[in-house]
Formats: sequence, structure tokens, C-alpha cells
Amino acid sequence: MANEIIKLSAVRLREEIEKGNISPTEVVETFAKRIQQVEGKIKAFVTLTVEQAYENAKKVKGGKLFGIPIAVKDNILTYGVKTTCGSKMLENFIAPYDATVSERIKKEGAIIIGKTNMDEFAMGSSTEFSAFGPTKNPWDLERVPGGSSGGSAAAVASLMSPLSLGSDTGGSIRQPAAFCGVIGLKPTYGRVSRYGLVAFASSLDQIGPFGRYTEDVALLLEVISGKDPKDSTCADKPVLNFVEEIKKPIKGLKAGIPKEIFEFGLSNEVKEIFENWIEKLKAEGIEIKTIEIPMLKYAIPIYYVIATSEASSNLARYDGVRYGYRTSKYKDLTEMYTKTRDEGFGPEVKRRIMLGTFALSTGYYDAYYLKAKKIQRLLYEDFARVFKEVDIIITPTTPTPAFKFGEKMSNPIDMYLSDIFTVSVNLAGLPAVSVPIGLTANNLPVGGQVIGRPWDETTILTVSYNWERISQFPDWVPDL
Ligand code: GLN
Repeated sequence: MANEIIKLSAVRLREEIEKGNISPTEVVETFAKRIQQVEGKIKAFVTLTVEQAYENAKKVKGGKLFGIPIAVKDNILTYGVKTTCGSKMLENFIAPYDATVSERIKKEGAIIIGKTNMDEFAMGSSTEFSAFGPTKNPWDLERVPGGSSGGSAAAVASLMSPLSLGSDTGGSIRQPAAFCGVIGLKPTYGRVSRYGLVAFASSLDQIGPFGRYTEDVALLLEVISGKDPKDSTCADKPVLNFVEEIKKPIKGLKAGIPKEIFEFGLSNEVKEIFENWIEKLKAEGIEIKTIEIPMLKYAIPIYYVIATSEASSNLARYDGVRYGYRTSKYKDLTEMYTKTRDEGFGPEVKRRIMLGTFALSTGYYDAYYLKAKKIQRLLYEDFARVFKEVDIIITPTTPTPAFKFGEKMSNPIDMYLSDIFTVSVNLAGLPAVSVPIGLTANNLPVGGQVIGRPWDETTILTVSYNWERISQFPDWVPDL
């Protein structure tokens, strides 16, 4: 029975709860047991909130997420609970209020069971940059789960939670979803409020759902979407009933595959699985054509100029005065600032603050930041042009499956390249989903990315929904 419950979709689980076949407390109990069994191996969580979950299970009365456990990335504020961002800087920081998304999921009856591990301040692609040690990939404990939302992806993949939330600035939902064999959705920029999300690069950050079933991802998107007076970049768009909208056939959809994707170190196994997936989609009636996104080759450099510039500004607030870590010994204010930042931030965060500060400084602003913004515009126009001809764009999510711990730590550029297919989507503000499309000979998941027009989450989730029915990918579960 317990084994069945942890594998159920959130939508089914809610139905069982509504029918009275199982209580929210029993649901929490079942997942708490699972966490006890496997968390020691995976380390998906920075903080577990199982005690509070039991309390909340007694109180919930209904809602779209009635009694459903959710794991929340540790850069999303959850009132009264630690929110560390994977950083020593915020190791003991207790959130003084709820992020809008936290408020919205609670209002719909969801039960937060823990805060998930991540690369420090969401900077990274492997969770190796967490100040609290890495998360393991449930499919192979010697490999990374991806990042920066590695904990959220691993928690869902290892059946410790049916749903989780992550944040995606350049791929941090989709890349770990691909590495862990689950679905991860980055919504259109402005679809979901960022209020209470600790800022990394504000013009690119979006919160989004992870799940094993398309319906569940659609449901969680529905709950967290919509206008928020507390975030002026959050758009006033109607919140659709995504769960129903996505149940349509995909016959006749026009999909573009960028010819450039084969130029970026695509591994043979990913290429083969990707091509096989395309054949299956064609058989469902999707029309495939080759398209060109010439600016794609600049996506990584533009991203690492823009994201680091914004980060250098956003992270200026960690100065030991307002909140978070403060160094213990200092002789004056300046030394307090510098020692606090030197001791509180890890290596990747420091690298990015330095890069961003450099790109924004007098004399370099025009050469780097402004240049990057101009090319970002051209990239956006590439996408806009292509979307006049096709409804969706399809790529592999990553060029390779999950890599081993340490493999890319000595070469930051190598690490950055694992985001080649995902960062362009954030730079253009588009929605995209990563879905499991196959397993390699070594039993590692491979993800396929479906990119949509602005605000068209429905179509990309429709593709995911149909592919799920053909492939039954929710049955692909790692042995733990
Ligand atoms: N891996 C990318 C980076 O290191 C993306 C991170 C993210 O989306 N938060 O910046």
C-alpha cells in the first residue's frame, strides 16, 4: 500500500483524500517513512519540516492540493522555517514571511515537508556548490542530480515527495529534471510571482514546478500562477485550468528543431535517444522542421554577463548588517563587510560577484553588459521569427546525461556549457518544459526540452501529456 501511495500522482492522491480513503496525516506518514528510508543516501533536503507537516495535516480542509506533500527549494521563503539558499551566509536565517508561491500552495491545502538543497544562491549546475554538501542523483549515487534545484528534482525522483518547487534562471529546473528523470517546467517570465524568491538574476529568475506526472505539474503551475501586487514583473494574465487544457491531441502541431544543437558536444547516447523521441512524436502527427537560431551560439556568454551583473548587484545586500552571517572579529566597518562576505560566500558566488562587478564597471559596461543586452535582443528576435512558423521548438535538455561528482569542478566553463540548451530560453523569457525521453545503457535518464511561445505553457504541457501516455515515463523509477 505505502509503495502504491508514493507512486501515485498528486491528482490521484488528492482524489483518494477527498473520497476519504486516506487522510492527510496518513499521507504525511507514508512520505515521512520514505524519507527516513532514502534521504540518508540522497540528501535532497537542507531542512525537513515533517513535524510541522503532521501539524498542518490535521488542519487542512481542502483545496486544489488538499493534503499533498511538497518540497520547496531553499531559496523560496517559508514563514518561520529556515531559508538558507545553500549558503553559509543564510545558514541560520528564518524566513519572516511567506513567498507568494508558499502562501498560494498553503492556501490550496498543500503540506510543505521540507526545504531542498541547492547550489549556493542558485549558482551552479550540480548542487556541488551547496555549503551543506551535495545531493546525490537517485539513479546513480556517484553522479550529480544537476542544479541548481538538484534537491527538488532528487526529492521527486526518489519518491520522497510527489511535487516540488524550484527556480530557474538559466536551466536550474529543467537541467536537474533531465538528470533525475522527472518533469520540470520553467514558466514564461512574469507568469509566477517572484515575491519571496531570493533574487539571483531578477530579469531571468522564475519559480516553477517539478513532478512525475504532467497533470501534477499543470496543477501546481495553476496554483502558483497569476498576478501579484507584490511583484510588478508578475503579469496580469488569466490563470488557465491547465490540468484540463492539456488533454488534447498533438496531431498537426508544428515543431522546429534548431540545426545548431548538433554543434554543442551532444553525446551520442543523448543524440540517439533524442532522435528516437522525435520519430515517436512524428508518429503522433507532429510536423517536424529544421529551423535556425543563429544567436544560440552566444547564449552562454550573454547569460554569464547578464546573470553575473544582476547577481553582483542583488548580492550586495549580504553585508553582515541587515541579516545573515556576520564575521566575529573586525576592527572597523569596512573590515566587517569584507570579512563577512569573504567568510560567508563560497567560491562560485565570489567568482560571479567579481565577474558581474567587472562587467558593470565604468569603461567595461558598454563593452560587456550593454553588448550582451543587445545580443540578447537579437536572440529574442530569432525566437520571435521562428515562432511565426512553428508552434514549439524541441531540443535535448542537456548535451549529456548526469555527470560524476567532481568532473566539472575544476573547469567552470565546462560546467557552464551543460546549460547550453536551457539558458537561451530564460534570455528570451519563454516557457519550456523538460520531460524524460529515455534511459541510457547505464540506466541514466535523458531529458527532452519543449519550448513554447510566450504564455503558451498549455501547448508544451500538451506535448508532455501525450508523450507520457505513449511512453508511460512515470513508471521509470530508480532502484533505491
Ligand atoms: N546553471 C546555471 C548557472 O549556474 C543556471 C542556474 C539557475 O538557473 N539558477 O547560473
